[in-house]
Formats: sequence, structure tokens, C-alpha cells
Amino acid sequence: MNTISHLECSHTGERYAAGELHNLSKAGFPLLVRYDLEKLRQGWSRDWINNAPATMWRYAPVLPVTKPPSIVSLGEGMTPMIRAKRLGEQMGASNLWVKDDGVNPTGSFKARGLSCAISMAKELGVTKVAIPSAGNAASALAAYAAAAGMEAHIFMPRDVPQANFIECKSFGAHVTLVDGLISDCAKLVAANAAREGWFDISTLKEPYRIEGKKTMGYEIAEQFHWMLPGAILYPTGGGVGIIGMWKAFEELEALGWVTGKRPKMIAVQVEGCMPVVRAFQAGAERSEFFENASTVASGLRVPKPLGDFLILRAVRESGGTAIAVSDAEALRAGMQLASQEGIFAAPEGAACVAAIPKLLASGALEPDEKIVIYNTGAGLKYLEAYSTRYPREAGGESDKLGGLVTPR
Ligand SMILES: *Cc1c(COP(=O)(O)O)cnc(C)c1O
Repeated sequence: MNTISHLECSHTGERYAAGELHNLSKAGFPLLVRYDLEKLRQGWSRDWINNAPATMWRYAPVLPVTKPPSIVSLGEGMTPMIRAKRLGEQMGASNLWVKDDGVNPTGSFKARGLSCAISMAKELGVTKVAIPSAGNAASALAAYAAAAGMEAHIFMPRDVPQANFIECKSFGAHVTLVDGLISDCAKLVAANAAREGWFDISTLKEPYRIEGKKTMGYEIAEQFHWMLPGAILYPTGGGVGIIGMWKAFEELEALGWVTGKRPKMIAVQVEGCMPVVRAFQAGAERSEFFENASTVASGLRVPKPLGDFLILRAVRESGGTAIAVSDAEALRAGMQLASQEGIFAAPEGAACVAAIPKLLASGALEPDEKIVIYNTGAGLKYLEAYSTRYPREAGGESDKLGGLVTPR
């Protein structure tokens, strides 16, 4: 079904065998999956994609699962690419698009990575999985583990959005709420995994989530008829989306399916947690731990991404940039996107909307280039955050009937 050749350390290039369980490389870096793309190039055509399933598994030949029954799918991927004409006019961007991953199972793009990771865990005989998560990865893991009949152990900050907590409990996962950040949750998973027999599905500590997420890059290419856009704005926490899309573009070039310039990759963060923006501005190769990280965009609350060097490399090689906005700007932009386009985005995706006017003003974006805002999640998962924008205490703004006739 696929042509997986081996796994490779993202830093040293050291090779590892496919078909075995892996976490980080011996040198402590994420592993990347490599395929025999030359062989695939001979035996697979982009013209066949139309007939493939309407999920991310349409790209199965470049995904790591070797036996089709291993696939655990809830219909993830092939999400809409929507032209944002009215918003674009307001912002002075004439070719603006929103890729809406909020419609995925469990309401975020995390479904892509976890569908792939759980499918591989199933193929390799895993029965118990564990994850530290800022929120949505936990929900997605819990859902796919439930669908696969696996035991899921979840560690998340006590103040995660309520939706994430309720979802995980409903999916039957074992949930531990931690007084701390995702980095503290990760330490707990690492300390207990071996003794408890859990396979650690932490961001980039297992090689297959990134493979699921790279399908975002394949879909963008397909939805634009194999012509890549000028720029992609991506809300960056662990950065797996950027790393994955960059890998997708490399593979698509090797397959001969796309040519020409790759998109400018723009990493969007929030002022309450902006380690990648700081590293980008400092010209550094790695990020520094961001102290006291705090933001309503819970998916962006990653104080020190493990794959920071890969994110920074993709952003720089692409001629992109990194930028932060405030939580208030993100929520306001989320309301603007919703009212202009009918898309209710997570604050993470909304942060990208807020970045557009700044990037147009600085010249990092051109008014007429094709710009894609990657919305990673559904606004409905963040009712606490958006509630601050819409108070409804008795006698408040929303209670006034204005000129309406009162029914008797
Ligand atoms: C996890 C998450 C992010 C960050 O994703 P990365 O690819 O790890 O940077 C962004 N938005 C939402 C909604 C998330 O859940």
C-alpha cells in the first residue's frame, strides 16, 4: 500500500528501521518517515486522487500504515478551502482563503495526526497510549483510542477549555488534570510510561502524528489544482503543522506533482507565548523556554517546542516570517471572520486573521497574492474565551429589546 523506506533522525540523519515502535532518535531528536518517492513517482498519479476516499487517507501511499485494516478513521481531512472575499476586501487582501480544519472529528486538525498515530500504534500492537496535551490533542487521542479499543491516559493543564476535559471523559480516557503547563504534563508521562506500559504519543516524540498532519500540505496543493499559494499563515504551538506541510511540499516536488516556489510559511503566535517569534527575531536556531506562558489560545501554549529548529528552518527557507498578536486582537479577529464569512474559528486560527493587517502593513504579505489562513480548530470548543467578548448578565447589552415589539 505504501513505499515506506526507513525513518531518519531530523538532526543527524541516522537511519532507523520501519515497522518498529520508535520515539525520539538516540540523539534525542524527532524522527521523520522517508518513502521511496522515486518508485511512487513511477506508479502513482495525481490524476487518480479524485477517486480516492474523501478523507486524508486518500494519500495512503505517502502515509506509514502498511495494512489497510490498521487504519482508524473518523472521516478526518479533506476539509473545506473557502474563499474569504468579504474579509479580504475589509483587510485589503484580494486573494484570501481559509482552510477550515475546525470541521474535523473532535473539532480540530489534531484529528489528522492522531488518526495516523493511533493507526500505526494499532498496526504495531500497542494497547495503551499516553499523551501530555494543551487540549485538542487530548480530545483527538481519546476519540481515536476509543475507536481503536485502546486504553488512553491523558495529562492536561487543569485550566484547559472545558470542552477538552468533557470530551476526554466522554471518550472513556483516564484523565489527570495537572497544575502546570504542557511541559509539566510531558514530564509526568515520561516518568510513568515505561512502568505503566504506555506508548508515549507526545508531539514529535512519536514519528507518525507529523505524517497525518502533513496531509494539510497535500490538500492545499490539491485544492488549488497543484499550484501552491503565495503564503500560508499557521498558528504555531508545537509547530507540527508547519513542519508537516514543509515535508509535504518536499515530497510533492519529488513526486513531480508541484513545481515552482513554495509558499511563504508564516508562524503566528500570541504575545502570551511566543518562543518561536523571539527566536526568529534573534536569528537563533533554537528557541528559549518562554516563562509564564499564558493565552486563551490553548493550542499555542507551548513554551519550548521540541521541533523549534525545524519550524525556524521552514520559516526561513520559505522567505516567511514569525509574528505575534495579543489574545484580545485574536478574539476580535475571530468575531470579524465569523461575521464576515460564517466561519467560527478557534482563537488560534483567529490569531492568523489578526496578523494579516500587520503583515500587509510591513510588506511581508502582498495585497494581491494568494494567502491561506489555516484555521486549526472550531470556535465552539472555546466558549469560555469567547464568553469574555459577549457578556450576558441580566440587564446587559444583549438583554435590551431596542425598538422590538414586546409580545403580550
Ligand atoms: C495544537 C493546536 C495548534 C498548534 O499546533 P502545532 O501544529 O503543534 O503548532 C494550533 N491550533 C489548535 C486549535 C491546536 O489545537
